[in-house]
Amino acid sequence: MKKLLLGLVIASLTAPVLAEGEVNVYSARKEQLIKPLFDKFTEQTGIAVNLVTGKDDALLERLKLEGENTPADLLMTADAGRLYRAVEMELTQPVTSAILQKDIPENLRSPDNQWFGLTSRARPIFYVKDKVKPEELSTYEDLADPKWKGRICIRSSDNIYNQSMLGSMIALNGVEKAQAWADGFVKNFARPPEGGDRDQIKAAAAGQCDIAISNTYYYGQMLAGEDAEDKAAAEKVAIFWPNQADRGTHINISGAAVTRTANNKDNAVKLMEFLVSDESQEWYAEANQEYPVKAGVAPSDLLKGWGEFKADSLNLSELGKHNAAAVRIMDKAGWK
Ligand code: FE
Repeated sequence: MKKLLLGLVIASLTAPVLAEGEVNVYSARKEQLIKPLFDKFTEQTGIAVNLVTGKDDALLERLKLEGENTPADLLMTADAGRLYRAVEMELTQPVTSAILQKDIPENLRSPDNQWFGLTSRARPIFYVKDKVKPEELSTYEDLADPKWKGRICIRSSDNIYNQSMLGSMIALNGVEKAQAWADGFVKNFARPPEGGDRDQIKAAAAGQCDIAISNTYYYGQMLAGEDAEDKAAAEKVAIFWPNQADRGTHINISGAAVTRTANNKDNAVKLMEFLVSDESQEWYAEANQEYPVKAGVAPSDLLKGWGEFKADSLNLSELGKHNAAAVRIMDKAGWK
């Protein structure tokens, strides 16, 4: 009997304790890019993580439809423009956390603590190495110059990444200048926009254009992934970090927000805090070829190899603020 009791005590000490509650996550990030971290979180805290994955905008719609009945406590999605949209849809609530405020740079979280950036990515210029010299490149603004006529590949305007990129230009230069830029920029397209960011790099490598705009992690995935064709395409282009002499290269984040009706708010905050620990930051960023947001945590060797760059320090909530104007400008400019 004594032996049996002792056995039970040992079992309860070593097995993960699931008596500390749970947290329900709706995530646009794929399971393999977050599940290992969630498992570690559960191991350390005893808090179970229930994960539902889906497409970015579909998750916002689902949260809206479910209303007060949603089981979700935490929304994880990409692009500050989209997180801003979630706030506008009244799907989120503010969070007070000294850890999140300290570890996440001010420009990568909402000023009213509604959402927090957990990884960052840049949207620089990629140029075909044997067609363009880096000295010919300078700023995003310069891509509206007629010298780039028929030479630029970029995805369609219905994509939030481009809306946010233009939003950053509106924040800096105002609507009129942003419109003039978009008018010139669209005239320089090599083809009507099609496909995703990777497809722009592939088109450039295939000779359809000399310059492509893409988020950095797609390029990283092409270089580091298993697909030999993708890798060969990525190797034909190089990164140019625009606007180094002024505002810096446009960046964005993937992030998280606590839902408005979260039943497990404290656990949701604990999970976000866990995701900004040094160890999590390193793994979480590298899993998707992104940059850690926390100062002092180094990016992967692959990303280090692309060199350091000056990032735009604009508060990313500005991207959401100017989203509607960006969409109008793109429409007017004929950006399909
Ligand atoms: Fe993406």
